[in-house]
Amino acid sequence: DPPPIDADFYNIDGKLSAEDRALQLRVRSFLEAEVKPLVNNYWLHDEFPFEIIPKLAELNVCGYVYQGYGCAGGTSLMDGIIASEFGRIDPSIATFLGVQSGLAMGSIYMCGSDIQKEEWLPKMQQLKVIGAFGLTEPEVGSATAGGLTTTCRRTDKGWVLNGQKKWIGNSTFSDITIIWARDLDDNQVKGFIVRKDNPGFSVEKIKGKMALRIVQNGLITLTNCLVPESDRLPHAQSFKDTAKVLQMTRAGVAWMAVGCARGAYENALAYTLQREQFGKPIASFQLIQNHLVEMLSNLTAMQTLVFRLSELQDEGKLKDEHASLAKVFCTLRTRDIVSRAREVMGGNGILLEYNVARFLADAEAIYSYEGTKEINSLIVGRSITGFSAFV
Ligand code: FAD
Repeated sequence: DPPPIDADFYNIDGKLSAEDRALQLRVRSFLEAEVKPLVNNYWLHDEFPFEIIPKLAELNVCGYVYQGYGCAGGTSLMDGIIASEFGRIDPSIATFLGVQSGLAMGSIYMCGSDIQKEEWLPKMQQLKVIGAFGLTEPEVGSATAGGLTTTCRRTDKGWVLNGQKKWIGNSTFSDITIIWARDLDDNQVKGFIVRKDNPGFSVEKIKGKMALRIVQNGLITLTNCLVPESDRLPHAQSFKDTAKVLQMTRAGVAWMAVGCARGAYENALAYTLQREQFGKPIASFQLIQNHLVEMLSNLTAMQTLVFRLSELQDEGKLKDEHASLAKVFCTLRTRDIVSRAREVMGGNGILLEYNVARFLADAEAIYSYEGTKEINSLIVGRSITGFSAFV
């Protein structure tokens, strides 16, 4: 008999407390039972499985790291492990949770007033209010730090927002969207909680994606969209505050990539053990084993890297360049792992039902969002050389 499939080669899970390990296993069995059976079909049809939202609420891991407001107040390490478990089963559902729990709740938690936190975070933790995060624009992707063209201006009636936001995950059905806009008066980036029924706010679904097809991305248009001062995030005073949210969520994306890579590796290894050619399991061929070992080496390097990343985060020592390095390394290695997984499965590697094709496609989006390889590399490059090479 072949040995059991073990994608935790260096026993990282052995570092977890019994309580954390139990949470990890609870999340894993939930995802295997409730999410795995649904995702290929929803992915194929480019639709979101709304029936899982109440079940996700019951799982009670949304907003896991925040203190108060019904949130668990847990460690960044366990938050990462949860993101990785989601990524292992489906990167789209992992992204849905990442947008809700990280980008949207994180913006309110880090930049909101006490009243805003009381109003939104408990309902978002319970997934009764769904959030989105609107930073990217049709003409401004990598250059959002200095180049946002969406504007806000304070008037007697409140703030008036104008512009467009592209790629905004969850926004086709979100109750609120955090919108980042440049103030025409002081030229600083400010953040707003924009409600879906706000006049002047409209969303069009982006169709035809070949990755993360379950995630519903929208093109948002803001036309003289009036937002009251009470819905402005008071602690978002410049892009530096937006970047604090991105630092946390980039660490989360690195973990999610680890999960995506692990899911692909486990499926591929299982396949090579049972698929026979020339009268033998293909796992017995040297060239196949080479692919499997390359995958496992990269996966193990990623697992140890994100483990230390989260320790730094929990010690309060995480810097932008730490999160960026992990995001670049893990999403780049994941791309390599998913393509080898697909390769060792031959033709079946491109069929959805064999569970690797989805990871192969989804890795492409994870690689590009939350800062491309180039942009995150330039963040690391700036920190190690002292030279900013963005422009
Ligand atoms: P561009 O900025 O046009 O870049 C194109 C290429 O040029 C890239 O390879 C880039 O690295 C390179 N490049 C750009 N500048 C430089 C430079 N100075 N030096 C070297 N190379 C450079 N955004 C949100 O706000 N909210 C969301 O919820 C959200 N979800 C997303 C979901 C998906 C599936 C996708 C694909 C994107 C999502 N995004 C979201 C947007 C995402 O963050 C951007 O796509 C990303 O930041 C890259 O911007 P861009 O696509 O405009 O590419």
